[in-house]
Amino acid sequence: MPSHQNPDIDIACDVAVIGAGTAGLAAERSARRAGARTLLIDDRFAGTTCASVGCMPSKLLIAAAKTAHSIGISSQFGVHAGKVTIDGEAVMERVRNLRDAFVASTLETIDELPDTAKLKGWARFVSADTLEVDGRIVHARCVIIATGSRPSIPKMFDGMKNILTNETIFEIEKLPSSLAVVGAGPLGLELAQAFSRLGVDVTVFDEGDTVSALKDDDVAKSLHTLLEREFSIHLGVKINASQSDETTDIFWSGASEGRKRFTHVLIAAGRPPNLGGLSFANTGLELDEHGTPVFDRQTMQCGTSSIFIAGDCNAELPVLHESSAEGAIAGNNAARFPDVRSSKRSTPLAITFTDPPSASIGIPAGKDTIVGISDFSDQGRAKVEGQNAGVFKVYANSDGRLTGATLAAPAGEHFAHMIAWAIEDQLTAMQLLEKPFYHPTYEEGLRPALKQICDQTRLSFGQDRDAGSSPGV
Ligand SMILES: Cc1cc2nc3c(=O)[nH]c(=O)nc-3n(C[C@H](O)[C@H](O)[C@H](O)COP(=O)(O)OP(=O)(O)OC[C@H]3O[C@@H](n4cnc5c(N)ncnc54)[C@H](O)[C@@H]3O)c2cc1C
Repeated sequence: MPSHQNPDIDIACDVAVIGAGTAGLAAERSARRAGARTLLIDDRFAGTTCASVGCMPSKLLIAAAKTAHSIGISSQFGVHAGKVTIDGEAVMERVRNLRDAFVASTLETIDELPDTAKLKGWARFVSADTLEVDGRIVHARCVIIATGSRPSIPKMFDGMKNILTNETIFEIEKLPSSLAVVGAGPLGLELAQAFSRLGVDVTVFDEGDTVSALKDDDVAKSLHTLLEREFSIHLGVKINASQSDETTDIFWSGASEGRKRFTHVLIAAGRPPNLGGLSFANTGLELDEHGTPVFDRQTMQCGTSSIFIAGDCNAELPVLHESSAEGAIAGNNAARFPDVRSSKRSTPLAITFTDPPSASIGIPAGKDTIVGISDFSDQGRAKVEGQNAGVFKVYANSDGRLTGATLAAPAGEHFAHMIAWAIEDQLTAMQLLEKPFYHPTYEEGLRPALKQICDQTRLSFGQDRDAGSSPGV
């Protein structure tokens, strides 16, 4: 540390990482492994968003809901379980207990760092290589921004009671009687279906015209129809809200009109990047129209600066595995700066854990895309399981090479991986069809779509391995 600096205030490091979430932890680890002296900064050190208020508690709630739903529909199999009783307090207690265990394991990773490698406080830039953190000054050769995102609450709900976000909903002691969900994206729909299956009267509102951020109209329509069998979804509507006592009246108009009273409201209307207060004006970084630093997705470098950005805060692919990958790329490049190297990014993959799950994989269909479709209403295994609904679209280019898929179908999370991996391996529809398909499985449901792509690309497929759409029993 230079002699003019005060050791009580100034800290010097090679790589400072702002944010101890999934991206920040991966960035710190990767920079340290590449030989850098790191400093991990976080305002709370309270666990990653994924473990504390994101992926894990939402899946824990979905697991409870799935169990209730299975019992509720068991009579179709001749299994009569009687009336399902939901103990809402026990449901939420299990969610929190297991959630706390996931949080504890992320905190262990932070505990393992020496005290000199972590700093609690809110960081902001003083210059491109200097941060101020609650009165301490951090001098860093490189800085990685990994500050995540936060829920955005429309102004109309200011000061109202029982307005929840993903940051508060897992803390409720009892299940709400009724719940308005504002936002039909992945987060809103996962929680809407879960609460509905646990006996809550749920209604979803969205001003857009798709569900789960799906870009294919047919798949979106199919998912919308299936979910609407369980709870109401109003798309293409603008809402207004007013509070009376403990309840909230929601008025909506647009594609439909109405008014309904709710005990609770869940805001799931997007999570913008957590970049406010970082004082970018002091860095010289170029910002886009939303105020996000312009960066290279292969290096995670912001322009030619010594600043890198990873995770939800760059608003590109706000999912966990991408946050982790971006953190690792940013950390490695920050450690070796200015010798920055490009990394190959993986096939885009986004899954929503509704029932049926939906997913978007690879590149959306364009004008010249060849499309194959599988309909699950008559699929053998899906019928066996009472899950025969949903649709699967697979995309390929003119030589049959797979480029993407959109789906809302049973076992969708597994299909999504299968297609993503096939795209990574640059497989054609024909090559994927030539893989073994065990019988009777959901995977067989993919064959009609692949066969249609082969037909359209005039790549014939042997009759002995006919991939017709029948259940194939
Ligand atoms: C309800 C929900 C469900 C989800 N489900 C899934 C799922 O099933 N699968 C999936 O892949 N993804 C899911 N996600 C997304 C996933 O959780 C995120 O992509 C991931 O957690 C982002 O990690 P991150 O490191 O970018 O941000 P975070 O984990 O939020 O970390 C950012 C950290 O930076 C700190 N910070 C911010 N600003 C400053 C500052 N100026 N100074 C100091 N510290 C600061 C914050 O306090 C925080 O600790 C879900 C998200 C939500 C909300």
